Amino acid sequence: MEFRGKVVNVNNKGYPRVYWPEHPVSNSGGQAMVHRIIAYEKYGSEIFSNDVHHVDGNKLNWKPENLELLSHKDHANLHLHPNAATVIRQCEECKKELSLRSQKRYNSEKVFCSIKCSSKHKEKINWPSNDELREKLAKSNYVQVGKELGVSDNAIRKRLRNNAM
Ligand SMILES: [Zn+2]
Ligand SMILES: [Zn+2]
Repeated sequence: MEFRGKVVNVNNKGYPRVYWPEHPVSNSGGQAMVHRIIAYEKYGSEIFSNDVHHVDGNKLNWKPENLELLSHKDHANLHLHPNAATVIRQCEECKKELSLRSQKRYNSEKVFCSIKCSSKHKEKINWPSNDELREKLAKSNYVQVGKELGVSDNAIRKRLRNNAM
């Protein structure tokens, strides 16, 4: 088996990997798990603080559509309750359908199929300054202002935290 011209070896947990020491997902021995390489291309550095789940349960299937990024909590939950309902939502940017089993299916937060779509979307938001934002919030509330800007109420909280002036 080969992946991008490199020989694939399967580790003792059943995960295929290649020797690729320069890759950001490689371990100290220079081995990079193939599904993590693909997930990194799909989700970026988000994968370092989350789990990558194989949708069909087959560790050898590293197709991008078979890999899903889940928080540790969502991932553990999913394996505890494998039959929990999935909900179909749309990528906010390209409108592709995504079947979700993570917590995200319950809340109003926007979902994206890939890091490309989420960064494209972020560029489009026309953020007011923090002062203006606080003024708007004082007059109404997070949910209302979020609707106006096309973002979630949590996105506003994050914005005020990360963009503190
Ligand atoms: Zn999993
Ligand atoms: Zn998309």
